[in-house]
Amino acid sequence: MFIKRKDILLAAAVLAVALLCYVGFRLSAGADPDRAVLTITVDGEEYGTYSLAEDQQIEINGTNTCEISDGEVRMVQADCPDQLCMHQKAISGSGGTIVCLPNRVVLSVASDSEPEVDSITG
Ligand SMILES: [Zn+2]
Repeated sequence: MFIKRKDILLAAAVLAVALLCYVGFRLSAGADPDRAVLTITVDGEEYGTYSLAEDQQIEINGTNTCEISDGEVRMVQADCPDQLCMHQKAISGSGGTIVCLPNRVVLSVASDSEPEVDSITG
């Protein structure tokens, strides 16, 4: 009756790696485009909220147009003089913001880290 300590350690290591992979996957899956929501704010007031799961173009106040595509949001048209907003990195379900300072347009995606209230869907 001799249990090989090495075998137990190996099994534990395999389990630990599997668990880490699972947790890592779950964490990265937190950026779920089906649940992420784009909030558009103009001049500090909420303009609208849009699901990242739905590809669409949104005209904002006649000054800017943003596009939701493949769960990412980018500014595709703007009449501001600097055009900086159009060069900002696309934002996705993991969170982020695109700001058009001259037009006071803010696109923001809330990260999925906040606890969801499941009863909303019920
Ligand atoms: Zn701009």
